[in-house]
Formats: sequence, C-alpha cells, structure tokens
Amino acid sequence: MAFSQISYRDTWVEIDLSNIKYNIRKVKERFKQRMHVMAVVKADGYGHGAVKTAEAALEGGAEFLGVALLEEAIELREAGIKAPVLVLGRTKPEDAEIAVQHDISLTVFQRDWLIKTQNLLPAKKKLRIHMKVDTGMGRIGIHTHDELVSFLKELSQIESIHLEGVFTHFATADEKDKSYFTKQYTRFIDMLEVIQSQFSDIPYIHCGNSATGLRYPDQCFNMFRFGISLYGLTPSAEIVDELPFQLKEAFSLHSRLVQVKKLSEGESISYGATYTTEAEEWIGTVPIGYADGWYRYHSSAGGYVLIDGDKAPIIGRICMDQMMIKLPRELPVGEKVTMIGTQKQSSITVLDAAQRLQTITYEIPCMISKRVPRIYKNNNNNFPSQPEI
Ligand SMILES: *Cc1c(COP(=O)(O)O)cnc(C)c1O
Repeated sequence: MAFSQISYRDTWVEIDLSNIKYNIRKVKERFKQRMHVMAVVKADGYGHGAVKTAEAALEGGAEFLGVALLEEAIELREAGIKAPVLVLGRTKPEDAEIAVQHDISLTVFQRDWLIKTQNLLPAKKKLRIHMKVDTGMGRIGIHTHDELVSFLKELSQIESIHLEGVFTHFATADEKDKSYFTKQYTRFIDMLEVIQSQFSDIPYIHCGNSATGLRYPDQCFNMFRFGISLYGLTPSAEIVDELPFQLKEAFSLHSRLVQVKKLSEGESISYGATYTTEAEEWIGTVPIGYADGWYRYHSSAGGYVLIDGDKAPIIGRICMDQMMIKLPRELPVGEKVTMIGTQKQSSITVLDAAQRLQTITYEIPCMISKRVPRIYKNNNNNFPSQPEI
C-alpha cells in the first residue's frame, strides 16, 4: 500500500507534515466541548501516505484514526501505531476476528451481521463497534425505526460486542444551504434518543466530517472525523470564504525539466500534433504523465505549471509519462517545475487543479499514483507555508 521508497526519477510529491499538525491544532481550538478528533487517513491518507499522516495527526492532537478498509487499519497496526482505529466501511463477519486480533473497531449497521459475527469471535475478547445510522446520506447505515429497534435488541444480548460509538454522515455539510444538514441532524438526534435509552454511556457520538467541524462545531457531540481539511484542503469551493482559519495545504507536486529546446515557428508538439508554435518558442519536457495521475485533461483545460516563479502553459497532449510546457525563456535542464505548490510569489493550489478538472479537492492527491514518491518534510519552525526546495 505504501509509496515506493526508492526513486530514480525527478518527479515527486512533497508532504509538509507540520501543516497537518497545524490544521489539527487549529481546528481543535474551535470546540468549547471536550472534542476527540478522528483523523481520517483512508485511501493512503488521501494520497498523502497513511502512516506518516497518522503519526503527524496523532502528534498534532488527534486521538482516533479512521480508515475505509480493514487492510488499511492493519497497515497502521503493522507500522506500530497503537491509537484506536475505526474502519468506516463494512467489514465481512468472517473478518471480524482479524479486527479483534488487531484491536480495530468496526462499523456495523445490520442485525444479521451481529448474529453471524457473534459465533465467529474469539473467546474472551470483545469486538468494539460503532453503529452507523443513515440519516439521509443513503449509503450505509440503519435507516428505519424498526431496523434500529431490532438491531438494538440483538446487540443488547451479545456479550462479546461492545458498543463504542454511534455515528452518521452528512451529505451536504459543505454546501451553503444548511436545510438538508439540519434535517439529517434532527433525524440523528431522534435516533440517538432511542439508542441512548438502551445504551446509556456510549463513549463516542459523532456525525461531523471536516465541513461540519469547521462550520458547526456546536453540532459535533464529542468526536468528529477530520478528513480533507486535515490535509489543508477545503471540503468544497463554495465554503472557502466561510472557513474559520486559513488551512495549510500539505501536498505539493514537482518535477524537473529533462529537455529544453528552441523550436522555430510552425513546429508541432506531442501526439496528434495538436499544438503548433506560433513563433520561435522555448519548449521544456517534464517527466510526468497520465500514468502518474496527471490527467490529459490538464492540458486541454488550459493547465499551466510554475517554473522559476512564472507560469508556463502545458502544451499539446499529455503523454503517459511526459508532457511539454512552453517556457517563458531559456531555462536549464534540471530546473524545478511545480504542478501544484508555490514558487516565489505564485501558487497553484489543489483547489486550482481540482477546478481545472471540474472536480473536488479530494480527488487530486488521491489520483496522483503510487509511481510518484512522497517526500516528507517536517518543519517545526512556526508552521511555515509551502517550503521551497
Ligand atoms: C471519508 C469520510 C469522512 C471524512 O470526510 P471529510 O469530508 O474528508 O472530512 C468522514 N466520515 C466518513 C464516514 C467518511 O467516509
């Protein structure tokens, strides 16, 4: 699962772990109540590297970790991480025993699951679960009152399963309009009442994702799940102006020129010869392509990179492993090229790249493939912004 350690190439992602710690510390200041932060590090830490991110998040004040899959939880354990971990997706009853062995909490929302699993658990060990209720996301969770009642009845009869948490997930916490959020929140309160009438001291109640924690800290009970904004990214473009503090992006993407040439007027570039020089132009070749998750659409959507602090447009089609840019002037082979990040006074943010591809911030670091090594920085000097190499 981890990114390759050895790399001979001049293309890399840089992760600033001090920014991850900064984002956690700042978000914790938002809460008046005692708040447990669950750092969500699924999908290899949203492409940042799960283990490194988890370690930084725990240092920054997170107490719990969230992942999507059991194998992601096991990866954290195998790296020596002892903090509590919750698998947010469904795990099969047959695999619950593995969760118990690794001391991993599971998400559960089916009565049948409880019945099947109780016979498969090792003796004398308890499985910890968070029950998930679906208040309007329509994905996973207990949906109806009847399901809830029968689930609780079953659960109350099983000794080997401990109810550690209850949670739900919002569909629209990152939208300006709060009405659907409020509808879900109200349903959650109603379902909680039923649950708590039978289980009075559940350690963790949680509903919030990043958007909720940042915008509605009073509606987060005693835990919230900090995913996208842990990495310094906004949950959506439309709430950027509502963020309570300036998040610091941890992710940046860089490469170096491998060839520089002067082309005369009327020469074409790349597959399909879709770009033709209009005059004498300096062209640079950058060793990054769609197999690195740097999609072809970056070019047709008018994408550009930073070089020597200036913008340089991506020209012609992006290839599997390489692309070409139009240089502002002659520059040397080896010159640093920044696809996402800062050079001098200019920045290209993850949100810029996402909007170019007509998608959300979440997709950008996730789509940069394992072929691109992640390099970690940990500057402790007063939370600097994007460092320069
Ligand atoms: C991924 C995920 C989160 C994190 O959401 P962000 O918007 O990234 O903060 C929270 N809860 C669940 C159930 C998730 O799957």
